[in-house]
Amino acid sequence: MSAWEARADRLAALVEERGLDLLLVSNLVNVRYLTGFTGTNGAVLIGPARRAFLTDFRYVERAQRQITGYDVVRGRDDLLETVAGLVRDWDALKLGFEDTYLTVRAHAKLAEHLRDAAELVPAGGLVERLRAVKDDDEVAAIRRTAQLADEVYRWLMSDFGLAGHTEREVALAMELRAKELGADGLSFPPIVAAADNGALPHAEPRADGRIPRDTLVVIDFGALKDSYCSDCTRTFATGEVDSEAREVYELVRSAQAAALEAVHAGAELRAVDAVAREMIAAAGRVEEFGHGLGHGVGLEIHEAPRLAPTAEGDLEAGNVVTVEPGVYVPGRFGVRIEDLTVVGPDGVEVLTSLPKDLISL
Ligand code: ZN
Ligand code: ZN
Repeated sequence: MSAWEARADRLAALVEERGLDLLLVSNLVNVRYLTGFTGTNGAVLIGPARRAFLTDFRYVERAQRQITGYDVVRGRDDLLETVAGLVRDWDALKLGFEDTYLTVRAHAKLAEHLRDAAELVPAGGLVERLRAVKDDDEVAAIRRTAQLADEVYRWLMSDFGLAGHTEREVALAMELRAKELGADGLSFPPIVAAADNGALPHAEPRADGRIPRDTLVVIDFGALKDSYCSDCTRTFATGEVDSEAREVYELVRSAQAAALEAVHAGAELRAVDAVAREMIAAAGRVEEFGHGLGHGVGLEIHEAPRLAPTAEGDLEAGNVVTVEPGVYVPGRFGVRIEDLTVVGPDGVEVLTSLPKDLISL
């Protein structure tokens, strides 16, 4: 059985479990997860008895060649009318839709086309639940993307350096290097944040001012390849840094190592977060760690599950999550260390291969 069919089978089971005859998947990332379709207009209708992929004339030929496990249906420009026609033809009575994504306008249109033939039931999150647990093909794709991003970091460390460049120059150089190495793009705009800018967890690289010597620089960077994202943060020094900076670096490094130890299938999401948070709290710096410990990564850079104090549920084998504690000292500097991991039945596989000593560039 292909990965596509396996995904469709698992989703069809969830749709049935919800008491639905069909689910309309309209979010294009979810459609790509189910079919591999990368065009701009497509939808999936799936249930225990039926599976169809709908697109317009621009993509229908390609879809017929590439998409397996679904009847490929050519829709009108407005796919919703075609969706409603199939729902009526198939005598489906309960049609689930992705309430996180379907717009109010699209919902009204769909209801109009259905002419009371079927009830529209909010059913978002089903595909996301499947996406949180990666299959082997996905783990392999994420591993390749993470290796590529590691190569970019190694090139930065050995060839390009930091001090004397602007933050923006470093970000652009890393992007270009990633593409030279075969990346399709980046998974998010890179963060290159020196000194006080490093105290902002989502700092934008500055185009003015050179990165000085003797400070810390936070770099958060991820590649995109074959549709899958990677995510990695390292904090570097540009020469000698003061004792507080070194102390905070060691604190974050040990909190990150302890949290990695806590990652395994069955671990409570919030308990893994708490391992790092309690160590940082014991050092009196919990106010300076204002974000969750980590997040899932896959087709999107942020997806389920989240490792955070408010997260509910447990880690499952096949989750791909980041572990990224940080401490941000306002007006001075920040430190974050982030690895990408695959949760296994007994422990964790760390996909990031870069060193975690404080390295000076
Ligand atoms: Zn990151
Ligand atoms: Zn991240």
